[in-house]
Amino acid sequence: MTQTEGPFTCEMCDATVTMRDARRSKPMGDLDPMAWQTLCCPHCGSRLRTVYVGG
Ligand SMILES: [Zn+2]
Repeated sequence: MTQTEGPFTCEMCDATVTMRDARRSKPMGDLDPMAWQTLCCPHCGSRLRTVYVGG
């Protein structure tokens, strides 16, 4: 698995969000929340990326 460090560009508000600044939430679907986290834009709340954080 490749862990993406960012930064990420939000497609909704064009903000550049670093891994540190991103709001984290549980992933969608049946992904293991201990191994995967969804990164969300702290400005508009749009989902940026789902990343592997280890299990
Ligand atoms: Zn945004």
